[in-house]
Amino acid sequence: MMCMIPFSKLERYEGNEALFELVMMSIVSSYVGEPLHVHAEGLRGTGKTTIMRAARGILPDITRIKGCVYNCDPNAPHCPHHKDLSKEELEQIGVEDIPMPFLEISHSAKVGTVAGSIDIGKLTDTSKPEAKLLPGLIPQAHRGILFVDEINRLADTSPEITDILLDVMGNKPGHIQIEEAGLPVVEVKVSVSVWAASNPDEDPGPLEEIRRQLSDRFDMVCYMGRPDSVDILAQMLRENSHSYKIRQSKLNQLSASDEAANNAIRENIVKWAGQYEKTDLPDFLRNYIARLYIKHNLESIRAIEAMQQGAVLHSIIRGRDKVLINDVTDMIPLVLKHRVDGDSLVRMINDTDSRTVKDGILNFKSRKNKGKKDSEDEVDYFPNSARPVKEMNRSELINTEKTLTPKDM
Ligand SMILES: [Zn+2]
Repeated sequence: MMCMIPFSKLERYEGNEALFELVMMSIVSSYVGEPLHVHAEGLRGTGKTTIMRAARGILPDITRIKGCVYNCDPNAPHCPHHKDLSKEELEQIGVEDIPMPFLEISHSAKVGTVAGSIDIGKLTDTSKPEAKLLPGLIPQAHRGILFVDEINRLADTSPEITDILLDVMGNKPGHIQIEEAGLPVVEVKVSVSVWAASNPDEDPGPLEEIRRQLSDRFDMVCYMGRPDSVDILAQMLRENSHSYKIRQSKLNQLSASDEAANNAIRENIVKWAGQYEKTDLPDFLRNYIARLYIKHNLESIRAIEAMQQGAVLHSIIRGRDKVLINDVTDMIPLVLKHRVDGDSLVRMINDTDSRTVKDGILNFKSRKNKGKKDSEDEVDYFPNSARPVKEMNRSELINTEKTLTPKDM
């Protein structure tokens, strides 16, 4: 049964606030055709997947060529059926609005389901047998969101699907090859934001230790803190109770006020997307990011590209009319946590600390050692109760078993 709690009614607390922002930033960016890949890490019960799935309710509509399963943009058709048609032919087919796609890759998914396979229906049509491709989940998620829960397990058990994700996330937009014996290989463009969730403390461990390359493809990693207020925990328990779930499952649709709340967010997203297309990072901030890259010897160009993209998006969803340095520094933990070792991250944050506001998106907790069950070493970071980072030792912030290797990028 799908959870019907609307996005605006989900419990927000310090530890999960950043993910609400990231999800909206990613939708805004996807809407204008620039993916923003987001990975939420955290313990069970922090609501990572609930927040991501609830975002379906706030997705804006997109316009596509009527009936096109590849979601062809009428102004820039890319699929094998439409890319070579004339303007007149396209006009005859017409257009339609559909909700921005949100598709999920399950762990039992096969390459054919994800990429594409032969269309058995067309092949066995006795009147007109035809060998045609049926696009899989990824090409059908074009211009939208692709969600993968427990991505660390997927990376561990499905190397073929991991390779496909690497291609899809390799560039913006990415591409996908659909191969089927006896048919020519079809390669299509796919602009999709990949959202993933994982619990790095459960088998098989953190994604960056399973498949570093895939980990680096994520623009941002958000480590979810646990709720720490009695009220919020009590509310979460209430929503998890059997009787509450029974009541919810009887409600087949959102109430009018919930629908209105979702609509309000949806309208903001479309408005923000318009602003995002017109907003650029000021030169001095671009130079600032470039200096961080040099000074701290960062190895991932993706990291600083994500910093630029994230800073602009963050300023817009915060309702600012220009990008501030805080919008940049707020991105640092999100874009670097999975890319640099703990010592470097501490150095960088110290370096920028004096200029950083504490009400921002910055919030992450320590990663525990694999197998270490004691969670007492979890510390709140930037939020109100934070200790200065200088007082923490490295293991409180992050533990990585491998160091970055440039050739792995
Ligand atoms: Zn098409």
